[in-house]
Amino acid sequence: MRPRTKLQLRVTNLSSHLPNIESLMIDWAKNECLKHIGYATKSRIICMECGQRFAPELVKRKRAVCPHCDTSLKIEQSRKRINKQTMFIGKAEICEEFQVIRCFELYAYYREGREPHYFIQEVLQHWIKDDGKREVMALARNTGCSGWCGNLEIRNKTVGSYYSIGDNDVYCDKYHPDSVFKPQYTRMGIDYRLHGLSFLDAINAIPVNPKLETLLKAKRYDLLSHWYSLRYKVSSYWPSIKICLRNKYKIKDASMWFDYLDLLTRYHKDLHNAYYVCPTNLKRAHDLYVAKKKRDDEKARKARDMQRLLELKKYAEDYIKEKSKFFDLKLSDGKIVVIPLKSLEEFKKEGEIMHHCVFSNEYFKKKDSLILSARIGKKHIETVEVNLKTLSIVQSRGVCNKNTEYHERIIGLVTKNMNLIRQKLTA
Ligand SMILES: [Zn+2]
Repeated sequence: MRPRTKLQLRVTNLSSHLPNIESLMIDWAKNECLKHIGYATKSRIICMECGQRFAPELVKRKRAVCPHCDTSLKIEQSRKRINKQTMFIGKAEICEEFQVIRCFELYAYYREGREPHYFIQEVLQHWIKDDGKREVMALARNTGCSGWCGNLEIRNKTVGSYYSIGDNDVYCDKYHPDSVFKPQYTRMGIDYRLHGLSFLDAINAIPVNPKLETLLKAKRYDLLSHWYSLRYKVSSYWPSIKICLRNKYKIKDASMWFDYLDLLTRYHKDLHNAYYVCPTNLKRAHDLYVAKKKRDDEKARKARDMQRLLELKKYAEDYIKEKSKFFDLKLSDGKIVVIPLKSLEEFKKEGEIMHHCVFSNEYFKKKDSLILSARIGKKHIETVEVNLKTLSIVQSRGVCNKNTEYHERIIGLVTKNMNLIRQKLTA
């Protein structure tokens, strides 16, 4: 977009004079942001930082120092020989009357036998004035093109849902430690450690969300890192979170911890008690309740199955009591034979063969219905329901509830023999 307003013109002009800090960002990110990985098989480690191999004996507790480049590596078991890492990093600066947030996209490509390649580009800048007025300078982010394209220029300021295309905000995984924030933001608890939500989201959300401010000021990035996905849990478990804050309890895995609180709730444990809320070993405590829940669910399922079995047993007895007088019925025109279903097993089988709901909808429970199966030889053709009160055919259906070529013939056959059914009824 061409700058139109006075503010847009000023931002465009100031932006063009900002120093290029791409190499500064790469130098910092290489050491502080990107992961240093060694890929290990039984016979060798490949250091992805220098591309060289060394012996697996140097690995201790999934870490090793590369003898070639001295990098401390995290060792992963893998036959991989290439790797790619990508992330957004940022730097906050003050330029004239603006708070400026500069966001960069960083790519790092690693391959055995060579040094890594880094690629960085500045993709977005927020220019924010003290009165809240702001502008966004950004590359274009089109749905059609992968990633960013075009030049840094004034873009519209739409901020939609998180991560959506066309949304002119970027979540930076990390901010450069030399970032400078205006006092009104540092007072909110924002500094270069901001994590879990974008700067723009933070300054918009904090004034209306004191809980967020409390977490930021307490530097609880363990909880903030899930702000987008677990915000509603932060609200509903706030009393428990306050206990964590008071006890300086570090949460290793926030989503597991919330999951654990859900379990505590289910088992009516005291969510205001640090004994439950701040377990020394979260994973063990979590897994304990998960196992308990699994056992209980299994028990409940068995009880339900047993209940159902008893019910079915009763229905089976009732069915025979009520319908056995029809069991010797056999209506035939020489080709088609129509006979009643004689047990719940036969209902089940009929439902399975015909792919319809005669069993699952429990037609055997319908006192005024007689269910008949029309067959040619061993082949099931249609299932017929006769209303015993009106002595009429309610429905006759083939596989998947469709009519067959014999439909009319079956209806005719049953109608013609309705008097046989009537005789059984009054016998
Ligand atoms: Zn190395």
